[in-house]
Amino acid sequence: MGRAEGQASSYAEPMIYGAGFTVLPMSEECVSPRHVSTLQRDHARLEWRTPDDILERARPEAWTCACRATFYELHVSAGRGFIRRILQHEDGPRIHETRLWRISEARAVWSALLAGQVR
Ligand SMILES: [Zn+2]
Repeated sequence: MGRAEGQASSYAEPMIYGAGFTVLPMSEECVSPRHVSTLQRDHARLEWRTPDDILERARPEAWTCACRATFYELHVSAGRGFIRRILQHEDGPRIHETRLWRISEARAVWSALLAGQVR
């Protein structure tokens, strides 16, 4: 896909959770490669917590496509990283986050998430 696909700037507007999210009608096939893979049978379960402050505006380092009802973001800063899960609901987004890991560990979990090995 083109470079615009991965630019954080093009994602800046929808970061204002609760406004601007649109879900494509099911009939429109999204061609973005940024979707999590089908969950594997022997996947590990992540512990998802309700964040204390969901207004944090930290830029994600990576994210999956928001065409899905649930999408994910990888956040890293100050040597730590975590994954945010956003469930787009008609009443507004429902946000959960993992605990903080070392960045290398967070990136490894992110890769496993994309591969359907954890969820
Ligand atoms: Zn998509």
